[in-house]
Amino acid sequence: MNTRPTTSGLALRPELPLCQTDLPLDWYSEEFKPYAEEFLALPDRLPGTILPWLDSYVRPAQDHFGDSLLLLAHFYMGGEIVKLVERYDGAIADSYALAVQASRQPEKKVIVESAVHFMAESIALLANEDQDVWITNPKAGCTMEMLAKDYMVLPVAEQLIERYGDDLVCVSYMNTSGRLKALAGRTGGAVCTSSNAHLIVEWARRNGQKVLFVPDEHLGRNTAARLGMDLSKVVRLASAEETRGAFPVDDAHVEGGLAALDSAEMILWGSYCGVHTVFTEGHVRWWQERDWTVLVHPESKLEVVEAADGSGSTAYLWKAVEEAAPGSKLVIGTEGHFVTNARELGKQRGVEVMHLADIPDPGFGTSGCGCATMSRNDPPHLAGMLDLLRKGEAPDANRVMAGDSVNELTGERDRLEPDERAELITHARSALERMIEVTEPAGA
Ligand code: SF4
Repeated sequence: MNTRPTTSGLALRPELPLCQTDLPLDWYSEEFKPYAEEFLALPDRLPGTILPWLDSYVRPAQDHFGDSLLLLAHFYMGGEIVKLVERYDGAIADSYALAVQASRQPEKKVIVESAVHFMAESIALLANEDQDVWITNPKAGCTMEMLAKDYMVLPVAEQLIERYGDDLVCVSYMNTSGRLKALAGRTGGAVCTSSNAHLIVEWARRNGQKVLFVPDEHLGRNTAARLGMDLSKVVRLASAEETRGAFPVDDAHVEGGLAALDSAEMILWGSYCGVHTVFTEGHVRWWQERDWTVLVHPESKLEVVEAADGSGSTAYLWKAVEEAAPGSKLVIGTEGHFVTNARELGKQRGVEVMHLADIPDPGFGTSGCGCATMSRNDPPHLAGMLDLLRKGEAPDANRVMAGDSVNELTGERDRLEPDERAELITHARSALERMIEVTEPAGA
């Protein structure tokens, strides 16, 4: 199972302002505007100013809910939210470790998450019926997941199932909605994470099936390369960015056409992470020529992963900094806020850490990129969510239930009827359980 990374030891520094750009007031829903107005009126962003304001909302909520309240945040959260959440005894984790938090702590009944929507939904999928999951901002979506909505993927998957029957198995990356995790369950497939994708795909191939890998084409291709698969038998469907919807499975919508599809061992959905695909082989070489060790996340492009000195999940990258010998020089290619925190951890250990895209040469043109959508969970959303929950006035738009499909532009959600939700939970949980069955014996 994943080693759960921790940010313990990282503290808010009184002399440094919170590094988060303020969101414009019209980005807040009506219920959250009063909190945003107060926040925007504060004279500065120093912890000495922010914390008393935040305390005035968080502490009463903690007193009200006691031990039943659980605050969670993902490592990629910007603006020091990870440190704020930790300060209030919350937990920071990667997406898989977040997903199991509620089910492993049945005494927690009110779970408030600062991260993207699919992560909150994964918690809801595994939660008990008496545990309610809330996201501080429903407009915080993962762009990779936003290009793999159920209405885009499911009609295409149905065509593939019709064409290949039981010979097709779906592997859904953790970065998908519950509706796509349920698709994996329905086809006898499994969920995977970036640290165990190779074990899951290997398992699916041992059964002799054609693997439909959703949604990240890069993680899928990198996994195939890691397993030594023939990459000419890994074909990508049409670019989801171009289609933005379902499409016919025909020569025009399959890389190499239907002949390539029929002989493929792996079929990739055409989505990607905008944060991890800014990296190029040139970035990697620039640092290597200056004696830095380069580690990247496998959502990066294949040529970047192949050029790097190592590649792995968020947990792998964090552990690399924790375990590097003093004096090491590490360059990390992943989300910018994570690297900022890793740099701080490295400093405490005499390890230098840089962001892969932070090259002082205008020829490279890109700077370290953070997950901007995740960072929509800012301090006013955290304060407002907890205060509204305490007052019993939390908007339904912030409540997260398994099977919800969210429009991240409007914040509106499409919620399943109870019987449909129960069926979805059964299938999605079977895909998650299969991941655990396949990976735990191997100590993944
Ligand atoms: S970093 Fe990329 S994959 Fe991760 S949540 Fe953000 S958009 Fe999604």
